Amino acid sequence: MPPDATALLQAAGVDAGYGTMQVLWSVDLDVRAGETVLLLGANGAGKTTFLKSLVGLIETRHGSIQLGGDDITRMRSSDRMRRGMTYMSELAVFPDLSVEENIRIGAQALGHRDADVDDLYALFPVLRDKRKDPASSLSGGQRKMLGMAKALAADPKLLVLDEPSAGLSPLFVKEVIRILKGLQSRGIALLVAEQNIGFLEVATRVFVLEGGRIRFSGTVAEMTDNEALRRAYFGLK
Ligand code: ATP
Repeated sequence: MPPDATALLQAAGVDAGYGTMQVLWSVDLDVRAGETVLLLGANGAGKTTFLKSLVGLIETRHGSIQLGGDDITRMRSSDRMRRGMTYMSELAVFPDLSVEENIRIGAQALGHRDADVDDLYALFPVLRDKRKDPASSLSGGQRKMLGMAKALAADPKLLVLDEPSAGLSPLFVKEVIRILKGLQSRGIALLVAEQNIGFLEVATRVFVLEGGRIRFSGTVAEMTDNEALRRAYFGLK
């Protein structure tokens, strides 16, 4: 695939896996500056494995990853963060550290610059009230907020989120979606791995991952027009 000049992130032909097990097979995905891309797939489809290869937590065996036009395929995770891509994993926080310590750790990629904690507390007011409490004392939803605040502390151009809805009540999922809309309005690009189709509401484009392969990529409208995908993901005839 020729590189897309407008892409902020461009993954091309990515293979990855664990030991002798190959999980990803030639995955292509791109994210443009400021846009929100949804990576949709069931449990075990390979979403987490792909995100980890993007952020440098596992090796990309074949293929390439570019960020802002530069090849980052073999770059250390911390250098990728410094270049503007941060990651919220499913287990995003250090439970024994306080809320504010977690946020400050997220800002380490900024080097000498401090985290703008006041700005983050304005986005997540509940965290201000609990800033001295250990992260382990937070509810599941509050931990997600902290995970996001920690990933945002490094002032990313692209925030990569692994299943932000995991373990949350439908009400809290709505809250997460509201927060993502706020990040969009700040111009932050988002790549959201999910199995919850509720996140289509915030996405401009969708990639569907099945068995470690991209089965579909296109706009949200194109996805909902695709009969097989409609049946598989929306339970519609
Ligand atoms: P989930 O929603 O369950 O997180 P996922 O789409 O993120 O699913 P992955 O976690 O990437 O999927 O898992 C893809 C495949 O890789 C699965 O078969 C899983 O068992 C396997 N796998 C994941 N992590 C490891 C690991 N550390 N070692 C070996 N196999 C792994």
